[in-house]
Amino acid sequence: MIKRFIRRVLGLGEAGAVRVPRAKHGLGRDSLSPAAAKVCAVLRERGFSAYVVGGAVRDLLLGIEPKDFDVATDARPEEIKPLFRRALIIGRRFRLVHVMIGGETVEVSTFRGESGELSAAGGDGASLQDEHGRVLRDNVFGTQEEDSRRRDFTVNALYFDPATEEVVDFHGGLADLKKRVLRVIGEPQTRYREDPVRMLRAVRLAAKLGMTIDPATREPIRRLGALMESVPPARLFDEMLKLLLSGHASACLRQLRDVGLHKGLLPLLDVILEQPLGERFVTLALAQTDQRVLDERPVSPAFLFAALLWHEVLAAWRSRETRGERSIPALEAAMDEVLDVQCEKLAITRKLTATMREVWSMQPRFEARSGARPFRLIESPRFRMAYDFLALRAASGEVPAELEAWWRAFQGADAESRKAMLVPDTAPRKRRRRRRGKKRPESAAPAAEPT
Ligand code: ATP
Ligand code: MG
Repeated sequence: MIKRFIRRVLGLGEAGAVRVPRAKHGLGRDSLSPAAAKVCAVLRERGFSAYVVGGAVRDLLLGIEPKDFDVATDARPEEIKPLFRRALIIGRRFRLVHVMIGGETVEVSTFRGESGELSAAGGDGASLQDEHGRVLRDNVFGTQEEDSRRRDFTVNALYFDPATEEVVDFHGGLADLKKRVLRVIGEPQTRYREDPVRMLRAVRLAAKLGMTIDPATREPIRRLGALMESVPPARLFDEMLKLLLSGHASACLRQLRDVGLHKGLLPLLDVILEQPLGERFVTLALAQTDQRVLDERPVSPAFLFAALLWHEVLAAWRSRETRGERSIPALEAAMDEVLDVQCEKLAITRKLTATMREVWSMQPRFEARSGARPFRLIESPRFRMAYDFLALRAASGEVPAELEAWWRAFQGADAESRKAMLVPDTAPRKRRRRRRGKKRPESAAPAAEPT
C-alpha cells in the first residue's frame, strides 16, 4: 500500500519503470562514444530497442569518462551479429556480442531474464545454482525490467536511450546517484549468495565513485565473506586485479577492512591488511600504484603483487635461514611456499608469478657491489623493475637508503665512474668464492642481510 503510494509519488508506472527526460538528468547522446552511438542506431533502425547501460551511464552522469560502453537490447545474439561487419558472439555463461567499430569494442547483450525460471520473453538455455545459491549458468533472455533486476546496484541499472535521450530507471538509481549511495537491487543477502563477487564490487565501486555503501547493502558482507571460497580463483583474480589497478586501491583496501571482508577471504588480503610488519611497505606500494594509474602511466600487476607479498616471502625466508638453511635456496623455497598458498585461492597467472619470482630473487643481488656482479645485474632485462622494488624497500626502511642511492648513481654513471664506484668485497665472501671455484652461478650471489 505504502509502496504503491511512493511509486505513484515518484511517477513510477506499474511495471516500475520511470523514463526521465534529458532536462532532468542532463545526459545527451553526444556524450556517447561513436561506436556505442552507432551500435544503438543500427539496432534501432532494425526495429530493436537499444540502450547504453551499466557503468558507462553511471560514470557519464557522475562526470567520469567511462572505460567502455555496454549496450543492452531485445535483439538476440544471432540477430545482432549479422548487423555488423566485425562482430563476435562470445561467452559461455551468457552469450553476448562484441561489436568492433573503429578500434572500439562495444559489448552488446540481450536483456536477461530471472535466473531459475523461464522468462515471459521466452527461455533460451537454462539457469543453474550451486548449494550456496551461487548462479553457475544462466542464459535466459527476458524483458528490460527483468534485465534491470539482474544487475547488481541501483546506480548500475540505468538505461540511456540515445534515440530519446531519456534515462530509464527501474530502481531509483538516479536518486541514489545524486545521494552517492551504493545500494544492492533486491535483498542484499540473496544477491550476494547468487554471486559473492558482488561484495568485492560494492567495495571497489564505492571507493572508485566516492560513494557510501547503504547500511543494508553493507551489513551482510561481514557475515558472508566466507562465500568467496566458492568463487573460482580465476574470477577472483580478475576482480582483485580490477580493484588493485583501479587507481583507488588504497581506498578500496581501507573499505575492505571497514566492511570486514578481508578476514579469511584471501590470504593476500589478510597479508595486506593484518600485517604490521608489512604495513608501511604495502601502503607505499599501493599509493605509488594509485598515483601511476591516475597519471595514466603504465603499472605492472607483477610488480604490485610482488610488493603485496614481499613481507610474506621475507618472513618465510628469515624463518628458513634461522633454521639453518642456506640463504639463496631458502629464498627460493620461501617464494614457492608463499606462491603455493596464494595461487590456490587466487589464480595468479603463470606469467605474473614468473616475473614476481624474478623481481624477488634479484633483491639479494643488489647487496653485491664489487667485481663484475653489478655490471651483470644492471644488464638483466628485469633490472629496472627490480631496482624500483629495491627503492620501495629503501623508502619503507627495510634496506639502507644508501644502498638504493648507490644503485641510482651507478645507473646514471658512465663506464669509468661505475668502476670507481665499486665497493671492495668483504673477506669472508672472497674466501668462499675461492673454495667454490671461479664460475659462480648468477643466482648464487650473496643474500641480503635480513634487517
Ligand atoms: P567498471 O567498468 O567501472 O569496473 P561496471 O559497473 O561497468 O564498472 P562491469 O564489470 O563493466 O562493471 O559491468 C557492467 C554492468 O554489468 C554493471 O554496471 C552491472 O549492471 C552489470 N554487472 C556486472 N557485474 C555484475 C554482477 N556480478 N552482478 C550483477 N550485475 C553485474
Ligand atoms: Mg564497465
